[in-house]
Amino acid sequence: MKIVILPGDGIGSETMACTVEALQALSQRFKLDLELQHDIAGHASLQAHGTTVTPALVEKVRAADGLMLGPMATYEFKDEINPSMFFRKTLDLHANIRPARSYPGMEARFGALDLVVVRENTEGFYADRNVESGSSEMLITPDVVISLRRITRHCCERIARSAFELAMTRKKHVSIVHKANVLKIGDGMFIDICREVGREFPQVLVDDFIVDAMMAHVVRAPQRFDVIVTTNMFGDILSDLTAELSGSLGLGGSLNAGANYAMGQAIHGSAPDIAGKNIANPFSSILSAGMLLAWHGQRKGLPAFIEANAAIEQAVATAVEARQVTRDCGGSLGTRETGQAFAARLLAG
Ligand code: NAD
Repeated sequence: MKIVILPGDGIGSETMACTVEALQALSQRFKLDLELQHDIAGHASLQAHGTTVTPALVEKVRAADGLMLGPMATYEFKDEINPSMFFRKTLDLHANIRPARSYPGMEARFGALDLVVVRENTEGFYADRNVESGSSEMLITPDVVISLRRITRHCCERIARSAFELAMTRKKHVSIVHKANVLKIGDGMFIDICREVGREFPQVLVDDFIVDAMMAHVVRAPQRFDVIVTTNMFGDILSDLTAELSGSLGLGGSLNAGANYAMGQAIHGSAPDIAGKNIANPFSSILSAGMLLAWHGQRKGLPAFIEANAAIEQAVATAVEARQVTRDCGGSLGTRETGQAFAARLLAG
């Protein structure tokens, strides 16, 4: 499996170094024959090549079997391409899968949980990706801005299908999160289509929640949720909350998956407040890499890749329980030391 590795901005170089170490250990243990192709995107690429994503990089990613993208300091971009948006849109990575679970030995903030947020990833309220060209955010006068949200039957259908298919492998429960009391047409259509797709999965229990109330429900009783399907921005916000409920944003794995490509990318951003301090938690990135391996294994019928992901999940749980982790999870190790201990654990089996 060829994986392009792009460390990204801020804490990205620190967390991606640990991810590479983990992938190398897994490749050795499970005989995955991983070929890691190192390149740059974002601010490093802007400095070196004058653009955040070069055409040569796009070709390289298209020719590979998967991509690991580090966090991007997107807030600092002006007219530059945001690589995170770019790959989601260009590779049509319609489903952003974001699991959150509690870990033995570490108190989850509001009770145990084991859920997955399935977030639509290609349209919604994201002005930089919901139009074919340009932006759907407009400055009408110096004092008036209009930002548009796009919802399509096609994207609703495919994200709903991703959610129901996932639920069939889990506790068979899908919760639809929306704002149909206000966005009556767009989110009305989203609910209708989710329920329509749901009828193909009669074993799956379906319910729905208005997004603002959902923030209370998921904090009050996170254990009642299994798969949560929602539109792009609601999913972005909700999944940071569920990751933090599981213990830390640094524990949130995330896969951006489409029909032909997938990209692992930690749930968090570039965390400028802790960048360069050797304190960032690398597990969000490592768990994302595991999800990428599992995606590849499922598509190609290669059980070793699925086992490698299970080994990552198990080793994260063991590391968290043993406090061999960064301080956001109650440990005292640095990023580097957490990564080294983790790779050694993976190799030991
Ligand atoms: P952030 O996710 O980078 O950080 C939020 C908080 O969580 C900070 O206190 C940070 O220190 C902490 N944190 C994040 N990752 C952590 C980790 N691995 N271990 C321990 N603590 C961690 O959000 P932000 O500060 O609002 O955004 C910073 C930049 O990242 C902005 O430019 C934003 O646009 C960008 N961003 C990018 C992505 C992406 O590339 N996918 C996602 C979110 C934000």
